[in-house]
Amino acid sequence: MFKYRDNQLMVEDLPLAEIADRVGTPVYVYSRAAFTTPLDDLESAFKDIPHLVAFSVKCASNLSLLGLVAERGLGADIVSGGELYRALRAGIDPGRVVYSGVGKTAREMAEALTAGILIFNAESEEELHLLAETAASLKRRARISLRVNPAVDPGTHPYVATGLKESKFGLAPEAALKLYRWAAQNPNLEVVGADCHIGSQLLTASPFLAAAEKLRDLIFQLKKDGLELKYIDLGGGLGVTYQDEAPPSLAEYAAGLKGILSGLPGLTLILEPGRFVAANSAVLLVKTLYHKTNGDKRFVITDGAMNDLIRPSLYGSRHEIAPVRPSGRPEVVVDVVGPICESGDFLGQDRRLPALAAGDLLAVKSAGAYGFTMSSNYNSRPRAAEVLVSGGDFRVIRPRETYEDLVRGE
Ligand SMILES: *Cc1c(COP(=O)(O)O)cnc(C)c1O
Repeated sequence: MFKYRDNQLMVEDLPLAEIADRVGTPVYVYSRAAFTTPLDDLESAFKDIPHLVAFSVKCASNLSLLGLVAERGLGADIVSGGELYRALRAGIDPGRVVYSGVGKTAREMAEALTAGILIFNAESEEELHLLAETAASLKRRARISLRVNPAVDPGTHPYVATGLKESKFGLAPEAALKLYRWAAQNPNLEVVGADCHIGSQLLTASPFLAAAEKLRDLIFQLKKDGLELKYIDLGGGLGVTYQDEAPPSLAEYAAGLKGILSGLPGLTLILEPGRFVAANSAVLLVKTLYHKTNGDKRFVITDGAMNDLIRPSLYGSRHEIAPVRPSGRPEVVVDVVGPICESGDFLGQDRRLPALAAGDLLAVKSAGAYGFTMSSNYNSRPRAAEVLVSGGDFRVIRPRETYEDLVRGE
């Protein structure tokens, strides 16, 4: 959806330069089609398996994007009361909301119970006790899954590997079995599922399928003990192409899961994709301010910075950076950096780009997931605007913050 036409980078049928002119920079520009296509692809790839796609709100939480999820009757995976609020505001059915995360507070639990969400994915004994108490005080029953740590290595960046034995997430299988037995006899808990999420940006199917097998074995074990589960939640993590990565196809995941789940009829598969849906749905559009050379190094300073897109600084992630109107000037190798007072403030390092002049626009690609949602006001920079494009039209779905927004409540 982001392609050159007549030497201009377009988003769908609109030149990105036009959005920069009318909305300013830095700005997140989403393509509606690029966001909805993966959602529709998931639905068709898993149509033979009873399933629920619960979009991971934390990766891209704008109400207009969540509205596209709601429109399709899909669910949401949330990790906070704030995300519950967003999901409900966007019209997502609370009966299709699953609540993950290691640190749910009593207040957040009460809000989710009152809303009538589908499942709490509980991650520790203390959390489950508090959930049972909270449900009791509201005279409700909480549907729960336990998040199991399957101890598989997803082979991704250590910050986004969450299913390792020593990670803070989930419960060891033996601990989970014990807790399942306790939960099964608690009148305020209804045990409905088993859950895991082993990490993000998985580039092979095998760790995901290995985790599915471990969960299936646990579900068999529980069945023998007389506890019949309804849901197997395998989390998110499906990888995407940032530059030349070749993630497995949805068909490969679906075929693998079909085999693994074949012995368990009546089980509904829950998937919590985030990055897979959103990553390639947006670019961060920035403008060149200056060009300078220090020693042997050339820098391009843009009006976009690590507060707008922290992934390169935080994870060393590489986002492709493309000129919006290629100038034809000779290429040079540059670091693309922002105005923030940190040496870690860069959008890209050692990039070969046509020599840039002040005012030239750059598109930082694959910025739709963990882009805007991780942005901050560091250096008292108002957060960027967000724009949603459909065909030749666009809509501002979040205006650029103002200085007044910066000091609200202080
Ligand atoms: C972050 C997260 C997801 C989404 O992960 P992606 O890699 O973006 O698909 C899903 N489930 C849980 C529990 C998460 O923490």
